[in-house]
Amino acid sequence: MRLVLLGAPGAGKGTQAKKLIERYSIPQISTGDILRKAVADGTPLGKEAKSYMDKGELVPDSVVIGIIRERLKENDCKKGYILDGFPRNVAQAKALDEMLKSLNSPLDFAISIDVSFDELMKRLTGRRTCKGCGQMYNIYFSPPKKEGVCDKCGGELYQRDDDKEETIRKRLEVYEAQTAPVIGYYKEKGILKSVPGTGSIDDIFNKIISILEKRG
Ligand code: AMP
Repeated sequence: MRLVLLGAPGAGKGTQAKKLIERYSIPQISTGDILRKAVADGTPLGKEAKSYMDKGELVPDSVVIGIIRERLKENDCKKGYILDGFPRNVAQAKALDEMLKSLNSPLDFAISIDVSFDELMKRLTGRRTCKGCGQMYNIYFSPPKKEGVCDKCGGELYQRDDDKEETIRKRLEVYEAQTAPVIGYYKEKGILKSVPGTGSIDDIFNKIISILEKRG
């Protein structure tokens, strides 16, 4: 199953992707995660990407398209994959189509997770991640038992550099201007499915799998 997850930053794409990889045993490919790792490792790619990411702007298309082209060649993508955070604009969506056409393996669905602006602001400014195990928390909706400490592994919780309020505003603006049109692009292609991104994580997940398994 080849999927694209769409939705504003904070809509819950990463959370749903993690549940989907468990159910379908296919990898999640997150350009944001790949770029953050490159930044942490201090690679040339990371150095190029960091300035854009810190400002909440998109990293140039040529960079992320190159990342995806290489990643999709790996063996674990044979059974399918979940793209999370890519494509981020229509040019990336078209480049992906071209790549998949040459591999004769089109996308099955683009799932859009829809959430209001106010809700997104709370979700993003409240987001904290464990340095040790990657577990995510939200100080408003799902706080850890002890402030700043992971319930699961005792690791330290941190706020992503691009989850600060100013950067978040910028990221949401970039989303409206550049990424929201990708939804229309997939609608026209007839593979778009929209899911309200409110309610519990499991409610949203159940809606997604009922679409994927054609029970919805
Ligand atoms: P994310 O974790 O998906 O919210 O991505 C964090 C940041 O990485 C974004 O604000 C962008 O600066 C960059 N980024 C991630 N994916 C892409 C992409 N497909 N195109 C351009 N920039 C990206």
